[in-house]
Amino acid sequence: MDLKRAHELIYYPVSDHMMEHGEGIYLYDADGKQYIDCASGTFNLSLGYGHPEVVKALRDQAERLVHATSVFQTEPVNALVRRLVELSPANLTKVHLKVSGGSTANEGAVKMAQVLTGRRDVITLFRSHHGQTLMTATMSGESFRKAPFPSLLPGVLHVPDPYCLRCFYRERPETCGLLCVERINDFIEHASSGSVACVVVEPVSGSGGNIVPPDGYLAALRRLCDERGIVLIFDEVQTGIGRVGRMFAAEHFGVRPDILTTAKGLGGSGAQVAAILADERLSGLSGDHHSFTYGGNTLAAAAAVATLDVIARPGFLENVREVGAHIMERLRHLAAAHPYVVDVRGLGLMIGVEVADRDGRPDAALARSLARHGMDHGLILRTSRYGRGNVVKIRPPLVITRPEADLLCDRLDALFAAEAAA
Ligand code: PLP
Repeated sequence: MDLKRAHELIYYPVSDHMMEHGEGIYLYDADGKQYIDCASGTFNLSLGYGHPEVVKALRDQAERLVHATSVFQTEPVNALVRRLVELSPANLTKVHLKVSGGSTANEGAVKMAQVLTGRRDVITLFRSHHGQTLMTATMSGESFRKAPFPSLLPGVLHVPDPYCLRCFYRERPETCGLLCVERINDFIEHASSGSVACVVVEPVSGSGGNIVPPDGYLAALRRLCDERGIVLIFDEVQTGIGRVGRMFAAEHFGVRPDILTTAKGLGGSGAQVAAILADERLSGLSGDHHSFTYGGNTLAAAAAVATLDVIARPGFLENVREVGAHIMERLRHLAAAHPYVVDVRGLGLMIGVEVADRDGRPDAALARSLARHGMDHGLILRTSRYGRGNVVKIRPPLVITRPEADLLCDRLDALFAAEAAA
């Protein structure tokens, strides 16, 4: 079998595109065609393809030590935990690195909350995505994630998300009094087991449609958790490591979670690394109750340290905020030109464009069509809810410059105009 047909052996479907190399925000296929990657790989290439400092850190570390078991100290791991504690909210002083990605980080966070509280239930949002292990698939919102599995885990309660454009309670953000937080009390009272360990929330939803909560939402959630002795967990697997223009979204919203999980962007240019950052009170989970072979890997830790060094450098996050605001402004012009664009929302370089049909109903088919045709325009685009949603995601690598952002927006202009004319 030749190499071109080997894709038939891959368990999951893949596209016809054969990608060959990448640099910065660009990915190139085997014919040399260039694409701007608006999905930053799998939303993990915070520093884009092949960032020289990450590649150097990987190369240098590979020559010294690729892996040592986590009972020993190594310089990259020590440097990484120190850096993460320095850069995260001040109450988070413990770092658990023995996780293999975002899913196992979230699952570990829930275990920590259960150990501390001695309680069971987990509260998450309707459109949330927290991972693909059986526990995190159960925790995530969306029935499509669970439909094939006859056996899920008990003890998860899903509550409406702060999606003001299509508010579950048919309220307006100016007058709602944050009903979506207040009503969680009713869910706890009437729909939980009465034993709630934690609330897990993405500060801005990643897969769910780039939902940015209204002012005060996360602070109100913090108060509710404090009143009830519930652990508040921020899943910052997508929002963390500079994506929203601050190192963590917790800083942007001025709210301190009890636990924060991070993964994806921490690897800079694709290294596999993740972490759970926890308040001292939550350090009761024993090492052997949550420990994965590839967690705390020395090579990946070196890449993560290099990544944090770049992102924490003066000016880097300002650029994320400025370029993000510029893209949003250009997208708002796009929205004014095309009535099917009903909302442009985001923070930093985590931006979503919501599309709808003539009656204002979510139009997932249109979003998919835009993503499909994006490839012809040199744009890699992904849509919300694993292709079932009506939000086109614009999340390029954080190293994007303003001229590159203009090129991205020029290509989006052409794509959206072609779609309107079709
Ligand atoms: N949490 C969020 C917000 C995510 O977007 C994802 C992955 O897309 C995960 C958790 C799961 O991370 P991983 O795929 O590294 O297990």
